[in-house]
Amino acid sequence: MSLLVVGTVAFDAIETPFGKTDRIVGGAATYISWAASYFTKEINLVSVIGDDFPKEEIEALQKQGVGTEGLQVKTGQKSFFWSGKYHLDMNTRTTLATELNVLADFDPVVPEQCKTSDFLMLGNLTPQVQMRVIEQMKKRPRLIVLDTMNFWMDTQRDALDKVIKMVDVLTINDEEARQLSQEGSLVKAARKILKMGPRYLVIKKGENGALLFHENEVFFAPAIPLEEVYDPTGAGDTFAGGFIGHVAATKDISFDNMKRGIIFGSALASFCVEKFGIERIKNVSREDLDERVQEFIDLVQFDISLED
Ligand code: AMP
Repeated sequence: MSLLVVGTVAFDAIETPFGKTDRIVGGAATYISWAASYFTKEINLVSVIGDDFPKEEIEALQKQGVGTEGLQVKTGQKSFFWSGKYHLDMNTRTTLATELNVLADFDPVVPEQCKTSDFLMLGNLTPQVQMRVIEQMKKRPRLIVLDTMNFWMDTQRDALDKVIKMVDVLTINDEEARQLSQEGSLVKAARKILKMGPRYLVIKKGENGALLFHENEVFFAPAIPLEEVYDPTGAGDTFAGGFIGHVAATKDISFDNMKRGIIFGSALASFCVEKFGIERIKNVSREDLDERVQEFIDLVQFDISLED
């Protein structure tokens, strides 16, 4: 029951009201793999880096059980670089730079033993690359989850529409849902997007939680109200990694189990934002996670009687 993860492994430079970092390790697939590794050890990564990327970060992922045979290292080339600045509310950000570098002509090669993976997490990167990975699978995975962002909606909409058609679950944030559907209301946006291909849609709303749409049903998970949010970078990817990690580990793709996946994903994302970059997500104990999940339960539990 293995999980194949695709996405960027990158350097980020981040500015928040709490501080500024130089180039630090980031990338969608990095966050996804770390988050999923708390649930399953059968993870394989398909991505690309330059020889500027620190070897010890790859070794740390390998120690977590992440197979890196599908991670290409391009000698003499630079890793993907992204830089962003968060506004005061920490829910919105401006991209300052996106340097594709090794990603520009990346041709993903799925290792032979990963072509029958049961779960496929297509993290944020070029839609054509996401499609190339789907095409290489020998059998249709039981669940394909796709994450993307406004950058690809702006620059590669046709290719993105094609890949969206092929997946089971799409995860995007509220602004991206509006952009993709051209609808202001998230409920209307969801209805439209569910007609574009995916059977499930997750709309991430940052500190306002997440919504899971399926047919006429909707599930809402709040976000834990945190006193300090240092850096929201990677929260969406961590969320997706926790979600797919839980679903892959339990081998259960029912709507009810996806709801639990949403809670695990939200719990892990709440750790991610507590420190800059991947620092916090690299050190989450089982106790930390259980405690956080309990906080979610307490947050939304109440007694009410509708009898009289
Ligand atoms: P998130 O905050 O969950 O949206 O993800 C942030 C991560 O996505 C950062 O670590 C970046 O390296 C990565 N990222 C930013 N822009 C892109 C892009 N256009 N394609 C793929 N990954 C990106």
